[in-house]
Amino acid sequence: MIFNTDGLILTEQNVGESDRLITVLTRKYGVIRAFVKGAKNIKNKNLPSTQALCFSEMNIFKGHDKYIVNEAQCKEMFIKIRTNIENLALAQYFCEIAMIFAPQEENAEEQLKLLLNSLYFLNEGNRNPLILKGIMELRMSSIGGFMPDIICCKKCGKYESNIMYYNPFENSLYCKECVNTLHNYANKINEFLVITPSVLYALRYTIYTDLQKVFSFNLLGQTLKEYSQICEQYLINISDRDLKALRFYKQICRY
Ligand SMILES: [Zn+2]
Repeated sequence: MIFNTDGLILTEQNVGESDRLITVLTRKYGVIRAFVKGAKNIKNKNLPSTQALCFSEMNIFKGHDKYIVNEAQCKEMFIKIRTNIENLALAQYFCEIAMIFAPQEENAEEQLKLLLNSLYFLNEGNRNPLILKGIMELRMSSIGGFMPDIICCKKCGKYESNIMYYNPFENSLYCKECVNTLHNYANKINEFLVITPSVLYALRYTIYTDLQKVFSFNLLGQTLKEYSQICEQYLINISDRDLKALRFYKQICRY
């Protein structure tokens, strides 16, 4: 079978003398791994368009047990991301998140749109990178079926209060009154993250608002710090694996 699709190259690795194996988030078939024959040959017309972080239109052959890229044409390279090591590391982390939560062999229109928009704003430099990171962590995992349970207090159903507490390990939200009544709260106090109303609003907005509006909020200072911490902690817990790109990003940013 031969098909056309566009997609964002998530990872690339050299195979043998001259071939390359790429992982792509495609619009039509989600995450696939595909070979690019003779990719290291300088004359290969597919070379720039099959590099990581390229958004390319591709013609792909699907064989018995593997995909082979026949032709690829780059539509967007996100050049400015590549000139800033922090942003490049963050973009690689975005790709790592997509690898975990985007489907395989299924349509991934929404996931691709989220990833492309995040990379677009990172490239343009007109959004705070930590907000883009939080959106990628929370929204990509939510689309993938792992939505944080932050609708209301798990015990009494209260929608909001001055301070609420979220436990990312148990994926549960509590109001101040109820958290103190939990029988094991004293032992687990370090697991609970404090959520102020503005952070809770931002978290809910990240998950529930229309995809085209999700990038339209801003946070500053302590509120941004709390938002970022909760999104990251949530993703670490549910992904349950070594997030190499996240580790690298944090090393570079020293936070
Ligand atoms: Zn409550």
